[in-house]
Formats: sequence, structure tokens, C-alpha cells
Amino acid sequence: MELRSVLDRLESIRRNFFLGGCEERRKINWVAWNVVLGPKGNGGLGIGSLESLNISLLIKWLWRFYDERDSLWRRVICGIHNCERKHVDRWAKKSLGGCWFNIINVVSRLNDLGVNFKSTFDICLGDGKNTLFWLDDWLGNGTMAFNFPHLFELDKRKSCFVAERVGYDRLKWDWKRKPNTVIEREELDLLVRLVERVQFSSEPDKWKSRFSGDGGFYVHDLRSVIEDLNAPVVYNPTVWLKIVPLKVSIFVWRACMDRIPTAMALARRGVNGISTSCLLCNVGIDEANHILLHCPVARDALMWLLNWCNIQPPAFNGVGALVKFAGCWGSCPKRRKILIALCYGFLWCAWKIRNERRFNDTCSSQSKLADNVVSLVFGWVKYRGNFDSCKWEDWCISPFNVL
Ligand SMILES: [Zn+2]
Repeated sequence: MELRSVLDRLESIRRNFFLGGCEERRKINWVAWNVVLGPKGNGGLGIGSLESLNISLLIKWLWRFYDERDSLWRRVICGIHNCERKHVDRWAKKSLGGCWFNIINVVSRLNDLGVNFKSTFDICLGDGKNTLFWLDDWLGNGTMAFNFPHLFELDKRKSCFVAERVGYDRLKWDWKRKPNTVIEREELDLLVRLVERVQFSSEPDKWKSRFSGDGGFYVHDLRSVIEDLNAPVVYNPTVWLKIVPLKVSIFVWRACMDRIPTAMALARRGVNGISTSCLLCNVGIDEANHILLHCPVARDALMWLLNWCNIQPPAFNGVGALVKFAGCWGSCPKRRKILIALCYGFLWCAWKIRNERRFNDTCSSQSKLADNVVSLVFGWVKYRGNFDSCKWEDWCISPFNVL
């Protein structure tokens, strides 16, 4: 089976699981799967694709190959692929194929996704015994072979290590003949000035990742870079807070994109036979912005909640506008966090009240909705936030009293 089809198959199993369906019964795909997988910064849920995980895990083997210089497995591979003194591009022989070739070949898959492997790390020179003098970019401004092509041509051993050319007290050249043309002498002058200041240490040479604070390679970092570059970008103002339960945040995330199962949304997807009028007011239509914002029950409850917070609310034209307003409100992050929790709690409770009316025929009012939000979010703030000393009486006066 081709790798691509294995990944597609696994991805489709994950997608069905996420949607709550199974192999036999397909459910409605509310949000495109590649959007769901994308980073939160791109408007996704930050799940990450299996392809980016697969590539990042395989790239880790290149780092291990470089680091574990004396290990048996590395020596076996070097014996088979004759790659002891080779540049990373030539660590595997294509003609031999096999597992190791497939691992090295992941560099080209990474490249196809917009990430140049060699630009993901810097070489941190230690004892100079694991870095190629001419072929590795160990000073960070291009390889010596590229910058000094005439001298490179003259060197007898093009795959020499840094330590074999630069010593503690002298340079150790091994030319086919002495550099004697004008251009060769000029290059040599420049090269000598460049390398005579090089400092060695007793540590082995290291690759230093450009994506992590400590320079180490972490699968998660590379995966994020791949996702950032390749996931689609959709606008979504949802903020992900620890004090708000994940299922509520995901509901808000969906509501911002009008991807919740209202009667109108279902009708647009070919599910007919459901009344599309709002059963709370019998005037509006059962669609996200009406139920969660413009329906008198929701509108009045939201006004009450914002007044309780002492906020003069602007007019919101959609759920996204409310979510964005809460996410940017004020200058105090703690107060903003509480307002966000209240708004998300409000959207969640408004949806629940709509469902109770529709499926259980329960009567609802704006005061019931507001009460539900006040008690639900109090629980979040008290038990999920760091405000366990907050008191119900203080909360009821103003939600910011608990700070
Ligand atoms: Zn209504």
C-alpha cells in the first residue's frame, strides 16, 4: 500500500470518529477536516495532520543519526550506504533503496511542504570532528565549497572534517597543487582570515534547532512549523481558555462559523421536514445568529448579563462579533477572561435552551437563561480558574468582585 493511501485511510478513520459516525453510517461533515486539523492561529482546532506527525517523527531519525556517532546502528548504516563522510543529502544510496533510504527521502517530502531541512538548524561547532569543512554550512553564511569554489577544486579530500583542516594552532591544507593563480590566492587570504578565529571545544559538534528555546529537536516544534505553513487559514475569533470546558469552546468555535445543527443549516445540507421557525419566539428563523443573539430571549439575557458586568454593549451583527468583542475587551486580562467565559457560557446556555424547547417542549425565558449562565460560569471560575476563594454572594453583585 502506498504511504499516501495509508495516511488518507487513517485520516478518514479519525475524521469519522471526530464526527461521531462509524464506518457504515456517515454523519454531516460540519467543518472541513483540513480546517479542523489546522493550528488554532489559523482558525482550526490544532489537532495536526498525521502526515506532519509522520514526517516529524522520521526527521528525528536524521538527528539521531547525526548525534549517535558511535552507536552500532549508525555504523551498520554507514557500512551499507557508505555515508560516513557524506553530506546529509547523500546519507542514503538510492540504488539500495530500503527503509533507511525512505527515511532520508523524507527530506524531500519536507521540502515539498515548504520547509528546507537544512534551514531548520544551525551547526554548533564543538571539536569539529562531525562537520564537513567544505560541504556543511558551519559558519552560517554558506558552505565553503560555495564561497571558495577554486580552493574547493584544489583540495585532495573534499569530504574532510573541520578538525582535519583547522587545528588549535595552525591550518592543515592538503592541496592537489599549491594555490597560485590570483583568484586562488585571493580566496585563500579570505578563507584564512575567516577560519583562523574559529574556536573549538571538547564537546562534540551539535545541530541546534531553530525552532526550540534550548536548541534540541522536538517532534512537536517541526510539526507546528509544517502545520502553520500548510493548513488553510480561516477567520475564527474564538479564544481557548482553560476555565472554559473544551466542549463549550468547540461549540463557540463552530457557532462563529455558522456550523451548528440549526434547522436552517440542516435544510441547507438537504435535511428537510424540520420546522425552520424559531420555537422560542415563533417569529424569527432557527439559525445561529437568531437563536444565539437576536431572538428576544437571547437578546434580553445578553443585555442583562452585560449590564451586570457594567458594560455598555455595542450592536452585534453575528455570533463572531460578540466573540471578538469579548476577546478584545478592556485592558485587564483577568477581567477579560471572565467576560469571555460569560459570553461562551451564554452561547452554550442559549443553545441548550433552544434544544430543550425544540426537543422537550420546555418553556424558557430570558431570566432563566441569564440565571443558568450566572451559575454555570461561577462554577467554571471557582473550580477551573484560580479563584477557589470566590464567594457566590460577591459574584452575584458583580462577576469582577471575585478578582
Ligand atoms: Zn426567536
